[in-house]
Amino acid sequence: MKEVGRLNQTPEFLQEKNGDLWLIEDERENMKVSYRIKEVVFSEKSPFQHVMILDSYDFGRMLVLDGVVQTTSLDGHIYNEMITHIPLSIHPNPERVLIIGGGDCGAAREVCKYENVKEIDMVEIDELVVDACKKYLPAVSGNLSDPRVNFIFNDGIKHVENIRDHYDVIIVDSSDPVGPARALFEKSFYENIHRALKEDGLMVCQSQSPLFHRSVMNQTIRHIRDLYPAVKVYTATVPTYPGGFWSFTLGSKNYDQVYVDRFEKDTKYVNHSILTTCFDVPAFLKHD
Ligand code: SAM
Repeated sequence: MKEVGRLNQTPEFLQEKNGDLWLIEDERENMKVSYRIKEVVFSEKSPFQHVMILDSYDFGRMLVLDGVVQTTSLDGHIYNEMITHIPLSIHPNPERVLIIGGGDCGAAREVCKYENVKEIDMVEIDELVVDACKKYLPAVSGNLSDPRVNFIFNDGIKHVENIRDHYDVIIVDSSDPVGPARALFEKSFYENIHRALKEDGLMVCQSQSPLFHRSVMNQTIRHIRDLYPAVKVYTATVPTYPGGFWSFTLGSKNYDQVYVDRFEKDTKYVNHSILTTCFDVPAFLKHD
């Protein structure tokens, strides 16, 4: 049986060296990323994963799932602004938005900046992630309390299985394709998302590192190309993710251009210029 609940002993990805505590993120066999940690703020096992909030020296507080950093106070806004404001500036009237994953609440927080959005379904498999982030990671979650956000604690795969023609925008804010997130990278999931979107709907997902996870990224782009007439890949630099260079893939049934003349949301990273220049990808990505 899996151990669930508060942990008394230090998990294996936290190590003490010369009196300092380090998180060792096991990215791949030949690459480990280490963060010097000030304090373990929260550490508990859920039925799905090991959830930690750590206070680090250079990145501030961070959400760590099964030893992998998901988002930090330093750069969480870059990822969360990019996965939300780009699709919401392409769809001219997004009223119903679905976020799958996104337990740190940062994506939902950005979607709440759109007054025309009427409902935001946030389907997160692990309630413990949301609770921990709302309580201990306000720099990312903003203590989200907007009444339009409908928290649904369920598997995103199951949620989209039987929904038809409902959402304007679907945002897949998943963790890496391991554990509960593995199926969020499969073709059948993308087919269900396509059915859950209205006839002019669009979707976006994080599609991993163009350098380190090339095959996952290319497979994701292929799945989306098979389903949508308009497919766009865009990138951003998020220092927390391996290599810092990160990709997002957008699939749209109808709209594929940014419709806003001016971008006036309260953001730290996205501005009007980034809404379009983010699609200027390097040569090696254009050839895929
Ligand atoms: N921005 C982060 C990144 O790219 O690493 C990830 C954001 S968020 C923390 C990812 C969330 O997806 C996690 O909270 C995890 O619990 C959730 N998740 C994983 N598999 C899921 C599934 N099948 N259904 C719904 N949520 C899922």
